[in-house]
Amino acid sequence: MDEEENESMELPFSQDTFCDLWNNVITPSISFIPTSPTVPQCMLDNLFELGGEMDIKDGFNPSASTVPVTTDYPGDFGFQLRFKQSGTAKSVTSTFSEILNKLFCQIAKTSPIEILVTKKPPQGAFLRATAVYKKTEHVAEVVRRCPHHQNEDSMDHRSHLIRVEGSQLAQYCEDPNTNRQSVTVPYESPQLGSEMTTILLSFMCNSSCMGGMNRRPILTILTLESLEYGSCSPSLSLIGPSRGQVLGRRCFEVRICACPGRDRKTEEENKDKLQNGAKQTKKRKSTPAPEASTVKKSKSASSAEEDDKDVFTLQIRGRERYEMLKRINDGLELLDRESRNKSKASTKLDVAVPSSGKRLLQRGEKSDSD
Ligand SMILES: [Zn+2]
Repeated sequence: MDEEENESMELPFSQDTFCDLWNNVITPSISFIPTSPTVPQCMLDNLFELGGEMDIKDGFNPSASTVPVTTDYPGDFGFQLRFKQSGTAKSVTSTFSEILNKLFCQIAKTSPIEILVTKKPPQGAFLRATAVYKKTEHVAEVVRRCPHHQNEDSMDHRSHLIRVEGSQLAQYCEDPNTNRQSVTVPYESPQLGSEMTTILLSFMCNSSCMGGMNRRPILTILTLESLEYGSCSPSLSLIGPSRGQVLGRRCFEVRICACPGRDRKTEEENKDKLQNGAKQTKKRKSTPAPEASTVKKSKSASSAEEDDKDVFTLQIRGRERYEMLKRINDGLELLDRESRNKSKASTKLDVAVPSSGKRLLQRGEKSDSD
């Protein structure tokens, strides 16, 4: 609830500063448009950022017209990513979950990502990292840093969520058509005796940042691209997509949070629970709830339960409470059986019990959630 208050208090403020920010952006003069074919695409793209920024100033939401592809594609070069095993210790600042295909990291902390290929990519190949919202309802919106973190920063690419660390060759791009931001770095062949190259990514906002990701999960798309497509003539970059030809693609989810180790552990456990569901909870001694007390949360009378064959599992904290709720459930089950055995006409029992049973169940549920 506190967060909602903060949101309503901060939003008008951050919007003001957001506008200020755009007003302060120095846009290069048109006379600086490079014409040399060796100028990377991104530099040209940056020149056309002006249009997007004016849109934002006018309150127009620069949603993308094209939705980035988020399926894995190893391609001819067997493009693959590998993450270091960092475990789930409290102190860990970046850790990858294979089970969830998800990176958990702290804001602005470096996450090393190993790049593997089975064949040497063509000369001039580069890697690109793009962030995109995971959920369909958000995917059209461009992922950017929140206004607060942008304002704190004086870098040219301060609006970019993803950064490449440790390389002078990193280029920060914005697609002129979609306004999507990405960072590129030339692909470097592995050093002698090594099978992979490592790139260092850092994420410059928390997943919870208000006015930014706002708790919406994101994916990072890493592509291996070649320079062939849409070389570097200014006219081409105006009309064509600011992309090279994609040679390979890998995607993973990212959560930027204060405690990556803890959150990874929690999410992996939750997934485990979901997958094994009824099967495993029966065997667990620590959670006494499910065994016999697969509580039927039927809202109406037990007559409705004849239709409602669904079985629900209720997690209950404390043995005493569990025993109590179990007794209620056993009672209801017994009534069910009795009423099924008797003729359906005798509804006396059904009427008497459910109202009290219902009240008790609600109490149990409530305390479960604190
Ligand atoms: Zn932020």
